[in-house]
Amino acid sequence: MKSTAEYLDDPERAAARALSLLQGLGGLSAAAAWGWNGTAWRRLAAFGDADGLPDGEALSAGTQPSAGAGAQALRAGGQSLGWLAWRGAPPAQLETVAALLAGHLQCEALRAEQAAARAANETMLEISLLAGECPALERMLPRLHRLMQRLLDADNFCIALYDEDCSAFHFPFYVDRRDPSPPDPERIFPLAGPHASLTAWLMRGGAPVVLTGERIEELCSKEALAPPAPLPVFWMGAPLANAADELIGAVVLQVYDDQPMPTSAEQQWFMFAARHVGFALDRALYHGRLERQVALRTSELEGANARLRAEVAGRKRAEKFQDVLFRIAELSNTSLSLEAFLSGLHRLLLEMVAARNCVVALYDMGSDLISFPYCADEYASSLRARKPGKGLIEQVLHSGRPLLLDPYGSLPGVTAEEGEMPPKSWLGVPLYCDHELLGVLAVQSYDGEVVYGYRDQEVLEFVANHIGAALARVRALESLQQAYADLEQRVRERTSELDAVNAQLEFDSLHDPLTKLPNRNYFSKALRRAWDAYLDGGDRFAVVFIDLDRFKLVNDTLGHLAGDHLLFEAGARIRTCLRHYDFLARLGGDEFAVLMFGMDAVDECEIIARRIVSEFERPVILAGREVFSTASVGVVLADRAHYRQADDLLRDADHAMYCTKQQGRQGYTLFSHQLRIDQADQLALETELRRALEEEGQLLPYYQPFISAATGELAGFETLVRWQHPQRGLVSPGVFLPVAEESGLITRLDRYMINAACAQLRAWRAEGRVDEDCALHINLSSANFRDPDLVGWIGERIAHYQLPPAMLHLEITESALIDQPEAAATAMQALHGLGVRLALDDFGTGYSALSYLHRYRFDVLKIDQSFVFDLDRKQESVAIVRAILALARALDLEVVAEGVETASQQAMLKEMGCGMLQGFYFAKPAPAWALDWDKLAGLGREPDRVA
Ligand code: C2E
Ligand code: CA
Ligand code: CA
Repeated sequence: MKSTAEYLDDPERAAARALSLLQGLGGLSAAAAWGWNGTAWRRLAAFGDADGLPDGEALSAGTQPSAGAGAQALRAGGQSLGWLAWRGAPPAQLETVAALLAGHLQCEALRAEQAAARAANETMLEISLLAGECPALERMLPRLHRLMQRLLDADNFCIALYDEDCSAFHFPFYVDRRDPSPPDPERIFPLAGPHASLTAWLMRGGAPVVLTGERIEELCSKEALAPPAPLPVFWMGAPLANAADELIGAVVLQVYDDQPMPTSAEQQWFMFAARHVGFALDRALYHGRLERQVALRTSELEGANARLRAEVAGRKRAEKFQDVLFRIAELSNTSLSLEAFLSGLHRLLLEMVAARNCVVALYDMGSDLISFPYCADEYASSLRARKPGKGLIEQVLHSGRPLLLDPYGSLPGVTAEEGEMPPKSWLGVPLYCDHELLGVLAVQSYDGEVVYGYRDQEVLEFVANHIGAALARVRALESLQQAYADLEQRVRERTSELDAVNAQLEFDSLHDPLTKLPNRNYFSKALRRAWDAYLDGGDRFAVVFIDLDRFKLVNDTLGHLAGDHLLFEAGARIRTCLRHYDFLARLGGDEFAVLMFGMDAVDECEIIARRIVSEFERPVILAGREVFSTASVGVVLADRAHYRQADDLLRDADHAMYCTKQQGRQGYTLFSHQLRIDQADQLALETELRRALEEEGQLLPYYQPFISAATGELAGFETLVRWQHPQRGLVSPGVFLPVAEESGLITRLDRYMINAACAQLRAWRAEGRVDEDCALHINLSSANFRDPDLVGWIGERIAHYQLPPAMLHLEITESALIDQPEAAATAMQALHGLGVRLALDDFGTGYSALSYLHRYRFDVLKIDQSFVFDLDRKQESVAIVRAILALARALDLEVVAEGVETASQQAMLKEMGCGMLQGFYFAKPAPAWALDWDKLAGLGREPDRVA
């Protein structure tokens, strides 16, 4: 025997077992058992002639089995589980078997129910898992449907999704046996009136709905809805809500008449599943939304990122451009030439473009030429300027637009010129400056790897934009430099003009305009240079001082033109006496000086000095007349033992010349040691003379008488100064007068003497020794003519000593008149006005210009003692004295002959008709107290009477 548990597995086997038990009882001809499988009756087991037994369907319909064919309902828990029918079975056994079988079937029903519940649960779980899984909607919905199918017959099933934004729904999932095409999307709010669908109504209502066929029709007509077509026998729907209980859609299931009606359990599962579908959908939708949002955000971010990246790249490029632009600008400002600028530019360009080969072409409209100020090329070293032709440069120039040839041959008709390497890629852009097309910037590549594109064109255009302006700047700089160069040239020219002018000025400042010889200034410089060189061990040299003896006379008598001529001639004559390297200068007036280099000994100097003197012995022809102008020369030899500075050499040469003058002119004097001592002595003398003038008694007036040649009577006295020196004894004027003249003390000395003489004359008059016919002569140096007070002072003295002015005779030498003719004339005029008389001293020695006698009003003429001295020896002197006497007579002048020492001289002068005589023959100068008045009375007697 099998255990009861075995039967539980299988109702058929349990029924067969139960029936076999009945069969074993015997007497039973036939029996059958039916069970309810949930939807229909089915025969579980049978034996015998079962056909005669009532079948399950008939039984379930409530038909009672016929008598004799006993039937027993199998019931459990008030539920009919099946039937057991038999024929002829004893009722007791039947009941037992039926109870057994019913128990079996109940178990079976419970088991089936349990299995279905488990399956439904599993499906629900899967639905909720599906919701958790969150696949994409299009994958999820068919799976949802498959799971639904497991719960109930869902052949006509759809899922509607509500879109809140447009308050409408559509069917992402739809299956229908009879109407396979899903309905159009439909609005819910507001409902579309009689066309609204049941689904719309369902969603609007917000609650699940289960409708049978009749109910559908009823509802549609009541609610004015469009009934579904074809009309189902059953319609069931549930709105779907999300976690927030908001409408998201609906699930709808329809059953047509060929399908079994869903059981109430199935309806419950459907509703239950609908909630999970809602969650799943919600999650899927949410997920989808999220994903879409994420995708949207991501794409937004990606977009933003891309924009940022582009922006950064753009900014970097802009920075690079900016940097390059800046450097171009800098380059244009710092480049000293266009060439330097362009090569610098090329370097910058290389940083941005593969531009190994770069050409800058400039077009000049004036010459209609394209020049190439810059060309860097792997195959061509330079490009020659050319007339515009058919080249690519010309095309860019013509169009004024960039030209990109990539590849090079892409432009028909473009071929490289003969011998030229054709590039692979070519790019040229126009160069503009202020809308003016200047030229072209072009790059080309011979390398197949390097091809130019619009990006390069952009860069090149960018650079070109700034080249134009920079070119203008560089050109401006170049023209500025040209302007500077011009300016410098002009400055140089101007400077050289100025130099010439300066040189002329310097020449003028250093040269005498008349003779063109160096002047005193220049001489001093040369002298100092020579002196310094000498001190440094250089050549010894001599300084020669030359003074023309008769120059002033020439100037006054023959005029300045003749004087100039004489000076010019003098310069030329001195020059002929010198070596070419000797330095000759005109110091001023009639003074010349020479630096004679390489002079070691005095005799060398003498040779040249003598030569100069003799050069002036020849007459000069001036204004058609022969003029003799001798020269007085002084020479000094540089000597570091005796000199401290160069200027002293000139001073001593001058002094030596002066000595020559003193010694009667026309000759030379070598400055000697003796002269130097004398010079020193003169300085001492000067000091002592100054003191002598302040003290009484040192300077004494001596008086030398002169007599009338005819009568021998006293005619007058000449006052001559003597210096009773406390140490030196009696010093003669020949010694100290030059010192007085040079130091300017002479005027004081003369006033001293005039005063003393006037005082003496007054005394003599007072003593009655002289009458008014006696003349008192006083020597007056030319220096006095510079004293404007002189005449007034003399007048005052005359008045003071109450003298008849005509007794006073002032003796003036020719040289005084020559030195300052105007001042002399004025003073003499004034002295005449006082009534004082004037005598021309030393006549015949100086220039003996007769014009003086006409010009100045002299009263007395004194024949120089040199003529008197030679009277009895030289016939020439006799002639001169005769001439002078004739002249004096003609001019009505009195004449005094000086230096009469012998009786024969006296006799000759008397015989020649000379008015008055003065000389040692009669008396030597003597102080007033020593005058022998008795002797004076008979001075002019016959010689034999003189003791
Ligand atoms: P001087 O005016 O020609 O004066 C005549 C000079 O001849 C005087 O020389 C006189 O002593 C000298 N003497 C006169 N008779 C004879 C003679 O027979 N034989 C010779 N050999 N000599 C004779 P002293 O006094 O030595 O004066 C020299 C010069 O000094 C003067 O020449 C005059 O120019 C100047 N002198 C003299 N005293 C003064 C003075 O008080 N004032 C000025 N400014 N000059 C004066
Ligand atoms: Ca005199
Ligand atoms: Ca004299």
